[in-house]
Amino acid sequence: MEHTKKCPSCGGTMLFNPGFNDLVCQSCGHREVIPELVSNIPVEEMDFLKAQHTASHDWGMEAKVVTCRQCGAQTIQNKLQLSGLCPFCGSTTVEAGDPAQDIMAPNGVIPFKITENRALFIFKDWIKDRFLAPELLARDAQLNKFYGIYVPLFTFDVLTINRFTGHYNENNRTLFKSGRFQHQVDDFPVVASKQLASDKLLLNVIKDYRTSEAKPYTPDALAGFPCEHYSIGLAEAWNGIGSEMDFYLKNQANKQVESKYLMGIQMATEYYNLQYKYLIVPVWINSFFYDNKLYTIVINGQTGKIDGQWPKSFGTFAKKSAQFILGLYGIK
Ligand SMILES: [Zn+2]
Ligand SMILES: [Zn+2]
Repeated sequence: MEHTKKCPSCGGTMLFNPGFNDLVCQSCGHREVIPELVSNIPVEEMDFLKAQHTASHDWGMEAKVVTCRQCGAQTIQNKLQLSGLCPFCGSTTVEAGDPAQDIMAPNGVIPFKITENRALFIFKDWIKDRFLAPELLARDAQLNKFYGIYVPLFTFDVLTINRFTGHYNENNRTLFKSGRFQHQVDDFPVVASKQLASDKLLLNVIKDYRTSEAKPYTPDALAGFPCEHYSIGLAEAWNGIGSEMDFYLKNQANKQVESKYLMGIQMATEYYNLQYKYLIVPVWINSFFYDNKLYTIVINGQTGKIDGQWPKSFGTFAKKSAQFILGLYGIK
């Protein structure tokens, strides 16, 4: 079975077309709508406890895992796709490994809405007032290039029963409050990419999805885009959710108490009916080395939200300035 779709009118390669939910022939421009992406079928919630047995491993295409030898990132690509650059570090030293049969396949996808041109526009607007932006842009063509990739995101639905105690201050007195409430958590996101989850700024961007707009997974959305292999598994994602879920539920506890701000909340939570979705979500990534440090900028491929690191420390610049300025003007 092959996945790279051939154009029915000319035999050319058809690639996913960001923003339009269709495939476009790269030779003749013939377009075909992808039915899954225009359907109103919701992405199925999967039972967490049965995940091992019921999760699909079928990518709907012949997939391969490609590993970057520089940064270790793993992406899943169509077997027929030629390995290109690593989207996380720009390295070309990538190597293909075993087929991806044993890797859980996603059950939902948020397709790219933001085009590469739009991503560049957002990027240039974001950096325009930043440190040395025009000089750096002019200097390195790599900076003008974004790579589109789908990254893995688990979302969790779970029914919680919570008991809490806390206190608040009123007229210089400390008053205690306790209670019990039930709360249904819906689509709580956990980014399953270690590469991106380690950076708070990037994490903010890749949690900014409207998950209600996810569509049932189809390999057609991947035509032309690699997909990052999850480096945080389903169980690990749920087990590591602790402090964030805690923070979220304590906020819910506060909503139970009218017009008082509860402090020192202690809470005991029971979880029922845990369900998950494994979504792949679109990002545009730009990464580059500056002063031997890797900078990564990401743009949410659905909402256009951008964040990341940009060289800014004057201290670092001053230390390296002579070398850098000479390089900048082509003087050795
Ligand atoms: Zn064609
Ligand atoms: Zn890499």
